[in-house]
Amino acid sequence: MSLTIKKMQKYLDEKYKISKPEEIKNTERYFLKLIEEVGELAEVIRKNQRMVDGNIKGTIEEELSDVLYYVLMISNTYNIDLEKCFILKEELNRIRYGHKIKIDDIKEDD
Ligand SMILES: [Mg+2]
Repeated sequence: MSLTIKKMQKYLDEKYKISKPEEIKNTERYFLKLIEEVGELAEVIRKNQRMVDGNIKGTIEEELSDVLYYVLMISNTYNIDLEKCFILKEELNRIRYGHKIKIDDIKEDD
């Protein structure tokens, strides 16, 4: 299955419209949860707890996914197209830091 940032944002938006419509614009809550998850990520990085055999619980892989989840949720509360913003920001960084490679140079593996 191919997964894009756009698809992840749409999935979370539709999921919350159905399950928790009253919370869909709760940016402050999502931001606090993001910080909480960053703390959890710090702990598993410190302990170097990696995923083995698909067991994601209590690992760096789990906490990175949690951080991404809340980044996506915050983006959704502002109706931000995170893929578009990433491309724009990487172009600014490319110019600022003189990187040769552009995001369009990368071919997706299927
Ligand atoms: Mg977590």
